[in-house]
Amino acid sequence: MKSALLSRFFILLPWILIVILMLDVDTRRPAPPLTPRPYSVPYAGGRGGARSPPRRGLPGRSAEPRNVSRPPPPAPPLPTIYAITPTYSRPVQKAELTRLANTFRQVAQLHWILVEDAAARSELVSRLLARAGLPSTHLHVPTPRRYKRPGLPRATEQRNAGLAWLRQRHRHSRAHPGVLFFADDDNTYSLELFQEMRTTRKVSVWPVGLVGGRRYERPLVENGRVVGWYTGWRGDRPFAIDMAGFAVSLQVILSNPKAVFKRRGSQPGMQESDFLKQITTVEELEPKANNCTKVLVWHTRTEKVNLANEPKYRLDTVNIEV
Ligand code: UDP
Ligand code: MN
Repeated sequence: MKSALLSRFFILLPWILIVILMLDVDTRRPAPPLTPRPYSVPYAGGRGGARSPPRRGLPGRSAEPRNVSRPPPPAPPLPTIYAITPTYSRPVQKAELTRLANTFRQVAQLHWILVEDAAARSELVSRLLARAGLPSTHLHVPTPRRYKRPGLPRATEQRNAGLAWLRQRHRHSRAHPGVLFFADDDNTYSLELFQEMRTTRKVSVWPVGLVGGRRYERPLVENGRVVGWYTGWRGDRPFAIDMAGFAVSLQVILSNPKAVFKRRGSQPGMQESDFLKQITTVEELEPKANNCTKVLVWHTRTEKVNLANEPKYRLDTVNIEV
């Protein structure tokens, strides 16, 4: 009887040892990181509002006191990206804005400031924004007729209206961090671009594809500082950069209340330089996109549509918004 018990005990012993060993290894495993990846969480759906990154729960089994007694530090607030988009009525407008909304919807904590170049807000844009599923502001200001000529800068008044709205909204509260970016309605934006610009401290810069008569333009960077520009067009510009190639922190916009886009004295293609000169210096610029070696935004331009066969009489029996 006694020997039978003993032999059973010896058969079970190695298994008991293995189980004890496994339990020990498991509890010693380092706890998974509790802080979420900053600034890279895509928008998970739903309407409006701030979308803070999801927080991982405590691991179920590991009841070690260090996790219980010390909750993870609160995640820093995600800076809001304010995208100012000038837009005007034309056959491709709804298509462009639909594509842009589809991009922006995937970016956490983005506020879309859409500024129509028009005397009033249009039904088309109002409806589109209402269904976009994005925090947004709908403004309008018409470009004076005398400025609607080829060769003159576009969307000056609209970008300024966006700037004025931002300053007005934040005139009392300066607490929440934010980043401003000028997003024309016809460009192509990678989601990675928004991760890059989100960490802008003052003014950040990066390459832009398909612009300036080249495959891309980019700031030249040495030892983490911008030292010049790779461009095929007017290299003498103080900031030889496209509108899609920089972002500005909200703080800089607020502490330079007079910085605007100018009509007077501004030559074509100098809008960006004229604006950036008012708020920063080349030495101060923060290079993004791996020291300005990656193209994350493209200055695509939509071909003018051929409407040669639109009927003048005998129109369709229904009126369809395109
Ligand atoms: N835009 C505008 N009014 C105009 C022409 C353009 O509001 O009369 C807007 C346009 O929708 C775009 C931005 O200004 O968001 C830049 O215009 P465009 O793309 O035609 O300029 P480019 O690509 O040639 O710099
Ligand atoms: Mn364009």
